Amino acid sequence: MNEKNGLTRRSFLKKGAMVTALGAVCTAGMVETASAKSGTYATLIDLTKCDGCKNEPIPKCVEACRKENEKKFPEPKEPIKDLWPQKTHDDWSKKRDVINTLTPYNWTMVQKVEIEGEEIFVPRRCMHCDNPPCANLCPFGALNKYSDGSVVINHDLCMGGAKCKAVCPWHIPQRQSGVGLYLKVQPIPAGGGVMYKCDLCHDRIKKGQMPACVEACEKRLGVKKPLYFGRRDGIIKMAHERAKEINGFIYGEEENGGTATLYVSRIPFEKIDAKLKETKSNLLLSKVLNPLREVNGWAKGFVIGPLIGALSAIGLAIYHRREEKKEEKE
Ligand code: SF4
Ligand code: SF4
Ligand code: SF4
Repeated sequence: MNEKNGLTRRSFLKKGAMVTALGAVCTAGMVETASAKSGTYATLIDLTKCDGCKNEPIPKCVEACRKENEKKFPEPKEPIKDLWPQKTHDDWSKKRDVINTLTPYNWTMVQKVEIEGEEIFVPRRCMHCDNPPCANLCPFGALNKYSDGSVVINHDLCMGGAKCKAVCPWHIPQRQSGVGLYLKVQPIPAGGGVMYKCDLCHDRIKKGQMPACVEACEKRLGVKKPLYFGRRDGIIKMAHERAKEINGFIYGEEENGGTATLYVSRIPFEKIDAKLKETKSNLLLSKVLNPLREVNGWAKGFVIGPLIGALSAIGLAIYHRREEKKEEKE
């Protein structure tokens, strides 16, 4: 019994099979059936107020996130095996201190661009999409959109195939090899580790607390803080009021069909996006207008997805049967 996700082993395998089938349907171009759902909570990031914590050794939001999630960070088993058939693997475990990009050990970061002589700091993390392609297309059902608005990876179910990263318009999830379920089903050629990303502090929200990054930012700046967390309808209202006040723009309300992470800025997002492209960052702020059409585009890369999913489901079934037999003997 996997108590964490409320799934029994059998229902997990059933869910896996269902999701594999969904993968096949998506590949056939029928993703239009996926439905959007907005969660209860959202975050507003006001780019006119974030100073990038320039005077701090490390941005307070980044520091708080790392501390909060330390226990969830991967501890890979050495030597880390290559993925198949790529003959490569992803290993961030020796670069845990990196904070200028998203990694399995760093779930939020702050980008910096200069536009018309003004420095703009852009805190980045998962957008927690209303209709998340990462969750809809995971062949193992390892990602879920919760009613609080968060999109969370179940590290116990993730095989690290990185489909979620491929279909995410912002390529948010990051993989660490040498950990997770895929090690147990080898030599079945599926997966390659576990994917990690911001989970909107799902566990803290359950306890009635705000996300650690928002709390840390507020501690430093008080009412001048750029991060707001609250009920989604209130956050959207706040974004519109602020946009009107500064004659500015909103990002995240429409993008990818709507998200639970909204930005407001005085500078048009097209300009910020263009600057980010100049920095060769793959974490952009481009327009992502029609998620379903985009998903169909991305789904082209998924032709072997259902096949790998099916192989892996077989591998998982073998593994779980083995475990069941072990338990029966005991
Ligand atoms: S969001 Fe807040 S904590 Fe993070 S860099 Fe900006 S000012 Fe600092
Ligand atoms: S931003 Fe990417 S990883 Fe986050 S919910 Fe949306 S699709 Fe998934
Ligand atoms: S919401 Fe939580 S997990 Fe996400 S960036 Fe903030 S502190 Fe990290």
